[in-house]
Amino acid sequence: EFDVLIVGGGPAGAAAAVYAARKGIRTGVLAERFGGQVLDTMAIENFISVKETEGPKFAVALEEHVKAYEVDIMNLQRAEALVPGKSIEIKLANGGSVKGKTVILATGARWREINVPGEKEYRNRGVAYCPHCDGPLFKGKDVAVIGGGNSGVEAAIDLAGLVKHVTLIEFGESLRADEVLQRKLRSLSNVTVIVSAQTTEIHGDGSKVTGLSYTDRPSGESRKVELEGVFVQIGLVPNTEWFKGTVDLSRYGEIEIDARGQTSVPGVFAAGDATTVPYKQIVIAAGDGAKAALSAFDHLIRSSAP
Ligand code: FAD
Repeated sequence: EFDVLIVGGGPAGAAAAVYAARKGIRTGVLAERFGGQVLDTMAIENFISVKETEGPKFAVALEEHVKAYEVDIMNLQRAEALVPGKSIEIKLANGGSVKGKTVILATGARWREINVPGEKEYRNRGVAYCPHCDGPLFKGKDVAVIGGGNSGVEAAIDLAGLVKHVTLIEFGESLRADEVLQRKLRSLSNVTVIVSAQTTEIHGDGSKVTGLSYTDRPSGESRKVELEGVFVQIGLVPNTEWFKGTVDLSRYGEIEIDARGQTSVPGVFAAGDATTVPYKQIVIAAGDGAKAALSAFDHLIRSSAP
């Protein structure tokens, strides 16, 4: 049995592991893919004190830092169920199970993809999902944002200040973002909004994005826009399906946590993109991972008091 069992090996899980291990308590990290989303990232330029790095390099650095301590890393293991109790049990897809006096859930999230030709081929070569991360790479260029909900409209407003022109593409007949965001969007001169448009393909020249095609749904006509970047903003899905019903989740499936990272289940803490914390970023996930580990430690010393 671990004192702290962490599920997830991204920035949140890795930070939690370092903080827990430094308290001299038995720490384990269980991860389907140690490194998490940063493995799919190219340039990282906003992790403070690291001016510039690459995702896979950052993932190696996370692992090296964790391995500098006595942490049991169980990589390539998928968790499937959480059983609350005095000792919290995590059941694995391989039939085994691992227990912790406390558990930190740091299972992250995944971007919803549009699944059109070109999206996978040009990922990181013009197809992007995070305006805070990749916006500056498109300075002075023409880009599109797909999705007219709050995140799409916020992304379009954000990008309009950096790029030359933004085309916002929405599948439905109108934007779904809050009116205040739509008003701000309409006030910008370098944004074009296209509604009732179904994106059908992202084009490229073999090395980078060159355009996007969509069907104008009322007429059925196919149209093409030339541009160099496409930001897909149709939702971020938290990896929390397997503890639905055990741990309280928001209506978006995010783990509900308080300011200390405590979930609705005693002894279970959470951090990072899987939680309700706003702004899904590496530096934020890492900070919250540290916070969850300190909260788990606090829980342990209180529950072991005579
Ligand atoms: P994740 O990184 O998602 O890690 C989740 C971990 O949990 C993984 O190890 C995963 O394998 C594991 N896991 C999930 N489910 C299970 C399960 N059932 N059983 C066992 N393990 C499980 N942020 C920035 O700050 N700067 C950037 O430049 C940047 N660029 C990005 C570019 C791309 C393409 C993407 C996709 C994201 C980018 N982000 C960037 C966002 C950043 O990667 C995330 O905010 C951050 O990785 C979240 O960390 P996390 O630890 O919460 O989750």
